[in-house]
Amino acid sequence: MNEANAGVLVCDGKEGITPLDRQLAEWLRKNYKVPIFLAVNKCESEKSGISQAQEFWSLGLGKPYPVSGIHGTGLSDLLDDIIVDTKMSKITSVLKENCTNVAFVGRPNVGKSSLFNRMYGSSRSIVSNIAGTTRDTIDALITRDGVQYRIIDTAGIRKKGKVEYGAEFFMVNRAFKAMRRAEVVVLMLDAIDGIVDQDRILAERIANEGRSCVIALNKWDIVPSKDDKTYLKAIDNIRSNLPSLRWAEIVLISALTGQRTDKLFDAIDRAGKQFTRRIPTNILNEVVQDATLWQAPPSIGARSGRIYYTIQTSSAPPTLVMFVNNPALFTDGYQRYLERKIRDSLDFEGTPMKIIWRGKALRDIGRAVRKGDATVNKMSTATGNVRGPLNSNSRIAKADKK
Ligand code: GDP
Repeated sequence: MNEANAGVLVCDGKEGITPLDRQLAEWLRKNYKVPIFLAVNKCESEKSGISQAQEFWSLGLGKPYPVSGIHGTGLSDLLDDIIVDTKMSKITSVLKENCTNVAFVGRPNVGKSSLFNRMYGSSRSIVSNIAGTTRDTIDALITRDGVQYRIIDTAGIRKKGKVEYGAEFFMVNRAFKAMRRAEVVVLMLDAIDGIVDQDRILAERIANEGRSCVIALNKWDIVPSKDDKTYLKAIDNIRSNLPSLRWAEIVLISALTGQRTDKLFDAIDRAGKQFTRRIPTNILNEVVQDATLWQAPPSIGARSGRIYYTIQTSSAPPTLVMFVNNPALFTDGYQRYLERKIRDSLDFEGTPMKIIWRGKALRDIGRAVRKGDATVNKMSTATGNVRGPLNSNSRIAKADKK
């Protein structure tokens, strides 16, 4: 109830009012200021449904709504009135515009629930204490400086003890599900225990799912005799052990003392922004051209790689398509180099980036670019006639601007 914008007391219309209904109604009336609605269930009968509900006026919660959970009767009236009374439509639009979905993942005892509690504030009630919610996902909303964060699956974060599949299976499976609903994943690591296999599994999954990420190295408060070197060593250790998240920002925190948890929020904001960022095509092409000037694409025999044109086809995560003469000419090393250059030049940190390499005849590229994402995604990787590289004043660049 502490989390809710409205409450619905559900009673059994066939059974009539019970002493427990009266107690619940009184408790709700006394303790909560939000609108309380009274749903009288099992009132599907057209004849007796409405009269069945009438006696519930005496609970003092206002109009009883005759409904049927099984048949769905009466529910739309109830929901319409809830929306009007709670001004829910406004709340929903705020959420859509201004809400970052965040998942906290990490192995047991790394400090997820401590961090969540700290972020959420101790005055709010703990959602997982509500019976029957252990298997459900419950999200929590946190507002900071006018920005809303939806913390995903707080019941999963707070889940303790053994479950039927074993704690580990439960943790991993639940974390995977939470990730899929998130824009930003906070991967929590333990500064004392170091990095273990479970951390690597989670890290790889975050990268594979294409989610943005902040790495929170927790329990920094109890790292003994810290100096500048300790800090650098900790960062180095994460970078070399979790290469799939090399682009993620690392924040050293203490969920227990609150040290740098504010910085964690800032990093989440940055990661969220980068995740949905769009780069103008001309800037992207300038950056790529500049990168090829520093280091020319590789050659195999007499054939050298040529990059004709680059576009961003989508965001979340940012996805680029490189039109080239022949993708086979671009070695892994060169692909990594180019990604690094693009990231550095455009300050892409905190988000994965997908780069798709397309072999395409030069004459076909303009048409493909103009047709947009759908065409780009369907295009084959076959090589075609190659006439030479484009420069920044190319026909295609001009056509794209139009
Ligand atoms: P979870 O299983 O990931 O949710 O971990 P908990 O939040 O339950 O934390 C596990 C234990 O680590 C608890 O005893 C916490 O008090 C402790 N803990 C969590 N965060 C910190 C921290 O930043 N510093 C220290 N010293 N202990 C912490």
